[in-house]
Amino acid sequence: MVVLEHQALAEKGAALVELRLDWLSRPPDVVRLLEQRPTPTMITCRRQSDRGRWRGSEEQRQAILRTAIASGAEYIDLEADIAGSIPRYGDTKRIVSHHDFEETPENLEQIHARLQSLDPDVIKLVTMANTPADSVRLLKLVANSDVPTVGFCMGELGLTSRLMCGKYGSPFTYATFNKDRELAPGQLSFDEMRNVYHFEKINGNTQVFGVLGDPIAHSMSPLLHNLAFQDQNLDAVYLPMRVPPGLMAQTLEAFEWLEVRGYSVTIPHKEAVLEITDRFTGPVRGIGAANTLYRDANDRWCAANTDHAAAMECIRIGLGEPADKTDFLNGKMVLVLGAGGVARAIVYGLMRAGAVVSVTNRTEQRGVELAAAMQCQHVKWANRVRSMADIIVNCTSVGMHPNMDETPYQMNWISEGQLVFDTVYNPENTLLLKDAREYGWRTVSGLDMFVRQAAAQFELFTGRRAPLDRFQDTVRREISAVNLP
Ligand code: NAP
Repeated sequence: MVVLEHQALAEKGAALVELRLDWLSRPPDVVRLLEQRPTPTMITCRRQSDRGRWRGSEEQRQAILRTAIASGAEYIDLEADIAGSIPRYGDTKRIVSHHDFEETPENLEQIHARLQSLDPDVIKLVTMANTPADSVRLLKLVANSDVPTVGFCMGELGLTSRLMCGKYGSPFTYATFNKDRELAPGQLSFDEMRNVYHFEKINGNTQVFGVLGDPIAHSMSPLLHNLAFQDQNLDAVYLPMRVPPGLMAQTLEAFEWLEVRGYSVTIPHKEAVLEITDRFTGPVRGIGAANTLYRDANDRWCAANTDHAAAMECIRIGLGEPADKTDFLNGKMVLVLGAGGVARAIVYGLMRAGAVVSVTNRTEQRGVELAAAMQCQHVKWANRVRSMADIIVNCTSVGMHPNMDETPYQMNWISEGQLVFDTVYNPENTLLLKDAREYGWRTVSGLDMFVRQAAAQFELFTGRRAPLDRFQDTVRREISAVNLP
C-alpha cells in the first residue's frame, strides 16, 4: 500500500515524500521501502506522546531511524530530545523538529535557538494556532532564520502559515496523500496544495489575497481567484483565512506584515469590516455591509460590496434588459423573501433603482426592521401568499443543499409575473426556479450572482477582467462534487 501511494505521489509530481512509518500496521522494513523509493524520501516515525502512532519500544524506533540514515534516506525527522543522540551520517539531511499541539508559545525564538543548536539541516517548528495572528508570529521566525526552517501553525486558524511558509523561505510544506487522511490538524491534500494553491510557485514576490470568514472551509472563493491568477499568469495566491467573530481588527493588523493586497469578506464579518476603513466604493455605507477590502492607488484600504452590484446585474440580465439601460426597475413590484445580509444589499439596490419593494421574513421583527431601514413595505410571512409581484427574489436559505425539496414560495400563489431570482447557488436549479420556469417566469440563479460578485472582486484586486465562464464551470463542477450522495 505505502509503496503504491508513494508511486502515485511520484507520478503526480511530488518532489519529496514523507513516509510516516508509525502509521504502518506492521513494523516496517525500512531498507526495502527505501530501496524502492521513486522520489527523495523523508523518514518520520512519531511516538504516541508526540501524537504519532508508534507502538513499539523507543529502542526499536531509534534503531529504525538509524537504519533509515544508513540506507541513505534523503531526510530524517528527529525530535529535539533525540537529535543529540542520533549522529549525522552520509548525505542524509537532519530535520530537527518540535511540535506543540496546544498553542504557539511565547518563547518561539528560544525553542528555535535550541533546535538550531542540535546540528539541523532543516528546522521544523510546528505549533497550534489559537488566533490567526499566531501564523504571523511563526512566519516572522521563518523569515528571520539563518537555518532553513519549515515553520507553520496547525489547525484551521493556521492554514495561512501552511500555505505562506514558502514565501518566507521554508524549503517545503506538508500535505496529506488525500483529504481523508489528515496526519495533523488543518492539513491540506497534495492535490489542493498543488492544483488550487500552486504552493511550488509561491515565492518572496507572490502577492497575497484571501477570504476572511468563519466558517471558511467550504468557501469556493479560493478555487475561483486562484484559477483566475493562474489563467492570467499572475504571481499571486488567494487563501482561506478563518477569523473567529471579534478578532477581525487584530487579525488585519497582524496580517499587515503579510502585505495582503485584498480580502473577500464573508459571514460573520461583513458589517465589522466597516470599522476597518472609512473609504468606501459604491453604496457600502447605505447597505451597512461590505464583502471586499482592496487597496486604492495610495495603498489604503477601501471597502466595496460586490454582492450588491452582482445581484443588480443578475436582475437586469434576467429581465433581458441591455447593459446601458438603467431604469429597468422603475415602478416594478418586487417581493423580497428574507431579511438577512443578502436581502439588505439587494433591497437597497432595488429601492435606489426605483422599484416598489415588499420585504417578508420568517422572523417578523427582522423583516420589519429591514423594511423600516430601507423605507419599503413589509409583508407578514404568512401573507406573502397574497402579495402581487413582477419580480420575486429569494434571499432566504430555503431550498439550499441538502434541503433541495424545499421552496420558500409556491408559484401557484400568483397568477403571472416576470422574473424569479433565487440567490441560493447550491443547487443551481432550486425547486423554486424549476417551479417558476414551469409557470412561465424567467429565472436567474444564485450561481450567476456568486460568480459575478467574485469576478467584480477580482477586478478590484487586479484591475483585470475575470474569466466568468470558467468561474461558472468551476462552481458547477464543485457543486456537483459536493452534492454527491
Ligand atoms: P442570513 O443573514 O443568515 O439570512 C438568512 C435568511 O434566511 C433570513 O432571512 C432567515 O430568516 C431566512 N431563513 C433561514 N431559514 C429559513 C426557513 N427555514 N424558512 C424561512 N426563512 C428562513 O444569510 P444571508 O447572508 O442573507 O444569505 C442568505 C442566502 O443567500 C444564503 O442561504 C445563500 O444561499 C444566499 N447567498 C447567495 C450569494 C450569492 O452570491 N449567490 C451570496 C451570499 C449568500 P430568519 O430571519 O427568520 O432567520
